[in-house]
Amino acid sequence: MSRKTKNKLIIIAGIFFLGFITCMLIRACKQSEQISEPSISLYLSQEKRCIELKLEEYIQGVVAAEMPASFELEALKAQAVAARTYTLRKLIDGRKYALNSDLSDNIYECQAYISWEEFGHRHPQAKQLWQKRIEQACNETRGEIMLYNGEPIDALYHSTCGGKTESALESWGKDTPYLRSVNCGYCQHAKHYESIQVFSIREFQQLTGVSSAEKVKIIKKTPAGRSKKLQLNDRLISAEEFRRLCHLPSTWWSFKKKEDKFLIESKGYGHGLGMCQYGANGMAAQGKNYHDILDKYYQNIDYYRMNY
Ligand SMILES: [Zn+2]
Repeated sequence: MSRKTKNKLIIIAGIFFLGFITCMLIRACKQSEQISEPSISLYLSQEKRCIELKLEEYIQGVVAAEMPASFELEALKAQAVAARTYTLRKLIDGRKYALNSDLSDNIYECQAYISWEEFGHRHPQAKQLWQKRIEQACNETRGEIMLYNGEPIDALYHSTCGGKTESALESWGKDTPYLRSVNCGYCQHAKHYESIQVFSIREFQQLTGVSSAEKVKIIKKTPAGRSKKLQLNDRLISAEEFRRLCHLPSTWWSFKKKEDKFLIESKGYGHGLGMCQYGANGMAAQGKNYHDILDKYYQNIDYYRMNY
């Protein structure tokens, strides 16, 4: 099967999960012909209700929630393509969320989303200007997604990698060819590039149950440098669990003891997989376009534009 044919089939599968009727699928086969823009149902976890949105309307709300609107236009465009691709992947996977919705705004399950009304409350000074930039980023990439081997990729992204992104193989044990570890080199300006968290021994004990810094050891790391497994006293714990317990920005650490304090030096913010958002902004500030950005953080991908 040619790559082009495979691409078409995958897109059709995505639309199928959105409940499109058969004749629409047949029309979608003809790439040159326009199809209707899909709609999705989104569960709003705070309000505990479900709303219906056009796909592009949803993508705008995701970009508004997931990336600072003050970022460069090309970074916002990269974010729009990543968010749209991530969404298509979710729809094709077919999992349902609360109230049988297609997607959720819970960041632990899907992507964050905010309405323009909420965006206005958060940014009363710059609402109109920033809303226009986000709309421009989404319109200029309308329908565009990333594919690997004909399928929409799992387009993970995070705030700040801290110097190097993470490999999905090391992180999940699942080889994902487009999620390799790459040197970033563009996020040094980020607030969380490097940070230090200081705990008193008492605080540390309350959070982890361990009373002495000597009883905490990193026993497994990824080649990129993030921790995978720790030993707390005699207990083994995953780095993600330790991160949650201590509210740490990432799993890339070095530990230090200073007098009666326990210091954790952390690099980056987030899981480190896929696009580094601050790195994307750094690249855009140096004149790179959104394809340059996406090609760096997701390897050997193709682009496909859904014609709606
Ligand atoms: Zn980075």
